[in-house]
Amino acid sequence: MLSLKRVPCFQINLKNVSEFWPCLLRSLQNAHFIAVDFVSTLLSLHFFTLISQEFSGIGDKNNFKISNIEDRYKALVEIAKSRAIVSVGLSFFRYNGKNANDGREMNYSVENYDILVFCVDEYVNEKEATEFLANHGFDFELQKSCGLPFYKGNDKKNDEFDSYSLRLLIIEMIQRKIPIVFHNGFADLIFLYQNFYCQLPNNLQTFLCDLKEMFSKGIYDTKYIAESEDRSIASFLEYTYYGRQLLNMERKFQDKWYVNIEFDTLDLNSPYSQIKDLSCVFLSKKPEGVKVCKNYSYHGWCVKGTSCPNSHNIHLILHEKIERKSKKAKQNINKVKKFYEDNKLCEENDEKNDEAKEKTFDPSANPMNVNSGIHSSGFDAFMTGYCFAVYIALYGGDKVDAKTKFTPTNIGLKRFHNSLYLTGKDIPLKVNASSYSRVSQNHKTKIEKIKKGDFINKQPNKNDNKAEDNV
Ligand SMILES: [Zn+2]
Repeated sequence: MLSLKRVPCFQINLKNVSEFWPCLLRSLQNAHFIAVDFVSTLLSLHFFTLISQEFSGIGDKNNFKISNIEDRYKALVEIAKSRAIVSVGLSFFRYNGKNANDGREMNYSVENYDILVFCVDEYVNEKEATEFLANHGFDFELQKSCGLPFYKGNDKKNDEFDSYSLRLLIIEMIQRKIPIVFHNGFADLIFLYQNFYCQLPNNLQTFLCDLKEMFSKGIYDTKYIAESEDRSIASFLEYTYYGRQLLNMERKFQDKWYVNIEFDTLDLNSPYSQIKDLSCVFLSKKPEGVKVCKNYSYHGWCVKGTSCPNSHNIHLILHEKIERKSKKAKQNINKVKKFYEDNKLCEENDEKNDEAKEKTFDPSANPMNVNSGIHSSGFDAFMTGYCFAVYIALYGGDKVDAKTKFTPTNIGLKRFHNSLYLTGKDIPLKVNASSYSRVSQNHKTKIEKIKKGDFINKQPNKNDNKAEDNV
């Protein structure tokens, strides 16, 4: 649990891709599930705020109409065609089984990657989104000069970006046949399809049929799971992540299944690794005169952005949540706090952890403030995967086994399988093939090529990394 104080993420770009590609393929080969996140030239946060106003209508939450979703899909298709992904976050979770000395501990080793990509087709640069990203440390100059180039839509006959391409990586992911996890995944899946797979179909049902075939071992959406668990609280990624982390630690002290994450020490020392402290911060009391922003605490987004007078600090938001808990629940949390405090004391004797020690609580640290943090899709992907691992402990701790496949039943998440969160809707979008729909021709052509093995020789350093379960 203390490993979350130093979470590493490999930054991959054209300069180091030949060195890291074999590691990336190995991580994929060994993973039990993959969490994915994208940063695009249209920020999903902006987008979902817009889309929920435009399509769901405030006060119209229960009025589910399929035509609305179809319209939403069509709008997203246009957006995916006109905007481009600038970075791809992938987090590979390998389950190592239960700890023999601590019967309730479920161990994972995790590798995180942030891959810079550059779209060679023309695309719209949303001024607001690029400014937001630049202010959060995203380097557009580096992205232009060192992003892995890609084109959108269908495969081209003479593919000049054959060797290290996201297009090939997605094929590897399809062949690997393991669950794929998103947080609010509907738009991400549409972007993935158009940017790295093939031309999107015109209608939603066809798209869903294609997805079902592509990711046959299931697509999961941690935002949908979070909302299903408790609709009254927020479900934006940061909140879900820190909330699950707290819950996970409480479970450790309640002798229930809980998750332990390990990172390779090589990752921590690599010059290409970015290290981030993603551990919970416990406050003894709320700093005086500081108010939590209501908008941010519900949606993870606030229109006032950097000029908001109230705090957007996630630790303060969680502190308020803890304060509202029952006496008994607080007693549990106090055990967690004590564990943290005891271990912090140990760290002070450890010279290697200077970076972690530097973290102090600053209530004015506002994630929407300039330079308050580097926006990275790799860390977002990790947070998504972590939430998923905690949900597996919650619902499937008794069943899951490192030697068996992570099927919906084995991991206890059958009721969340292939269900995507829909903003403003009470029911999920099911990734199902209806008896009336067929897969698209573009997908059919591509999946047949994959099955025939047309792409196998294109993959560099492929020799030791052949997936055990090809399509
Ligand atoms: Zn605010």
